[in-house]
Amino acid sequence: MSQYHVGQTIQKRCRTCLHDEAKVIKVDRKDLNEKEAVILWSQCPECGSNDNELIPGED
Ligand SMILES: [Zn+2]
Repeated sequence: MSQYHVGQTIQKRCRTCLHDEAKVIKVDRKDLNEKEAVILWSQCPECGSNDNELIPGED
């Protein structure tokens, strides 16, 4: 269901170095009140900083 997959490059502003792309390192599916959400773990290729964000499922 998720459009995200490990190894994918996404557009995301790095909080540390402000690079505007990140690489997906992990995708966690989560069920929230009958709606699926995704926790997207990403890593900045420039500085190596990790980040994650909760993305609501699409329907
Ligand atoms: Zn960075």
